Amino acid sequence: MGSGPLKILNIAILSFGLILLLAEVFSFGDKGYIDYHTFRSTILPSGTILKIMLTPNTAYIYAKTPEGIRLYKINVPSVDDFQRKLEHDQTELGVELGDQVFASYITENRLAREIIAILPTVFFVMAISYFSKSIGSILGKGPSSLFAPKSKATRGQSTTTFKDVAGMDEAKEEIMEFVAFLKKPEKYKRLGAKIPKGAILVGPPGTGKTLLAKATAGESGVPFFTISGSDFIEMFVGVGPSRVRELFKEARASAPCIIFIDEIDAVGRSRSRGGFHNDERENTLNQLLVEMDGFGTTEGVVVFAGTNRPDVLDSALLRPGRFDRTIYVGEPDIKGRKDIFMVHLKNIKIEDKMEDLAKRLATLTPGFSGADIANVCNEGALIAARKNATVASFKHFEEAIERVLVGLERKNRVLSKEERIIVAHHEAGHAIVGWFLEHTDPLLKVSIVPRGMGTLGFAQYQPKDQYLYTREQLSDRICVTLGGRVAESIIFGRISTGAQDDLEKVTKIASSKVVHYGMNERVGVISFKKENNNDITIEKPYSQATSRMIDEEIRKIVMESYDRTHALLTSKKDELLKVAAVLLEKEVLLRDDLRELLGPRPYGEKTTWAELTGETETPPSPSPSSSSSSSSTTTSGDNNVESPKVLVG
Ligand code: ADP
Repeated sequence: MGSGPLKILNIAILSFGLILLLAEVFSFGDKGYIDYHTFRSTILPSGTILKIMLTPNTAYIYAKTPEGIRLYKINVPSVDDFQRKLEHDQTELGVELGDQVFASYITENRLAREIIAILPTVFFVMAISYFSKSIGSILGKGPSSLFAPKSKATRGQSTTTFKDVAGMDEAKEEIMEFVAFLKKPEKYKRLGAKIPKGAILVGPPGTGKTLLAKATAGESGVPFFTISGSDFIEMFVGVGPSRVRELFKEARASAPCIIFIDEIDAVGRSRSRGGFHNDERENTLNQLLVEMDGFGTTEGVVVFAGTNRPDVLDSALLRPGRFDRTIYVGEPDIKGRKDIFMVHLKNIKIEDKMEDLAKRLATLTPGFSGADIANVCNEGALIAARKNATVASFKHFEEAIERVLVGLERKNRVLSKEERIIVAHHEAGHAIVGWFLEHTDPLLKVSIVPRGMGTLGFAQYQPKDQYLYTREQLSDRICVTLGGRVAESIIFGRISTGAQDDLEKVTKIASSKVVHYGMNERVGVISFKKENNNDITIEKPYSQATSRMIDEEIRKIVMESYDRTHALLTSKKDELLKVAAVLLEKEVLLRDDLRELLGPRPYGEKTTWAELTGETETPPSPSPSSSSSSSSTTTSGDNNVESPKVLVG
């Protein structure tokens, strides 16, 4: 234990040393251009290089010499060539470039900023080498453990296998190849094939991208490193690139192995887009590119990365030799969902036969991701336990689905009488339009029990898994969504603020019809690229005149749909009043209640496993018989049509 005065003395010496260093660093001289040969014969073997920075034409080399820190420049006709030569000569001369030395790409005009950015790094390197002992005694730790860059990755041996990954057969098949590459690389190399370096797993959150990467590691029996893209980015300059280097260094030492970088878009966003630069992020990305390029060997290191924003990734990441493949991991279809339910119900004590229960729940959960399903299974078990049940049953899981969809019931939220009446008519409006239009999804439930975050009521539908939508389906969906607002205006002659969310959805669908799907005669069969809200500058690839035409057409679609909905609800005003009255009394209406009030749906409904999958067996009907709590769900098998999980009012 160091005494107080000793510590103060150490700190004083350290500060004095830093001041000296500061003076030294600021005096570093530019030694001008040297040729590669001189560099190779004098500077490289001396092992005093602090940093190498590469621009498209020049390599900037900072080295510690007896006279202080000096800058040397070398003309490099090709960056790749320089790297290859450097790597080769390093190996030949047996020079270990330290941790602080790395080559990074930068652009010429950012060089000045780069130089300023490395100053703190230079201080640290030198301060550590001068005062490592003092720091060690002050902090009671070895300097290396304190300042060594940590990759932040967690390393493990994955026990997950493909058995734990349900559904997504195509993604599994594609990724299965990597298992073969890792297990028997010779088989491919023998024929001269280059083993792919990695794959980007693209898909919405919770669809099992991490799980799939883990399973690949588990199947191949190799170590698994996982890190999130945002872990690279810290407020300190230079930490990101050094974390990347450290990660690859660790990985190479444990090769063959798998690295999984989650949310790669945090570092991998396209460089210099939108006017703002984030130097640290760009340097981190550059370093990642350098490492993947094989500046230093990456034999046996497979890199997977996950993202749900492939559109913002830098194109350099997707070039051959880096992430060679893109594997799409989408939301599961009805059969996939059944399989995922089977995986997660395995550990839960359930009342029904597992397969029947899984099928029933799968019909009620379109649009759910694997993570949502895992959540439903766990919530179902929690609800059953809370109710002191000995086993979890269908109704517990049904309640869990609803909780995942619209949040907890808030029975004690006080709504005024007038507000309840408005909400009841609004929801009844959605229900009636959905019931009488041809191309809508079957309705499951209407509720005016307040829930979760500001939801005063909702009408819930059961859409099928669908990847393509027709013009009619989109039109009817707009009408159903407008139903609440139109009902308010017909019944009360005035409108409330409750329809804002509905109107946003309507506008989105209408604008997609015009701008993306080429479904508008006047604008024509043209699809404009989706605008990226994260970009600072949004350039519309069309003229002012087209822009005006698009606005007019969107408005026209919405107004025509409004009129159609108005006409329908006016003709069904009695039914509307009847449903609203019963809703005010019972708070929740199920499909069977609506059938009783309105008669059978004129266009029929497909709701059971057999009807939805075309399989002939007769599973139990998902239609709930008890009137307590029930039902679900959602839409959005398609990744283009922005469809709501439930229509809320
Ligand atoms: P992502 O990386 O795509 O965000 P994860 O792999 O982290 O998603 O998935 C979260 C959880 O969801 C997993 O731990 C698993 O419990 C569950 N899950 C997701 N997809 C599947 C699947 N296909 N089979 C089984 N469980 C899944």
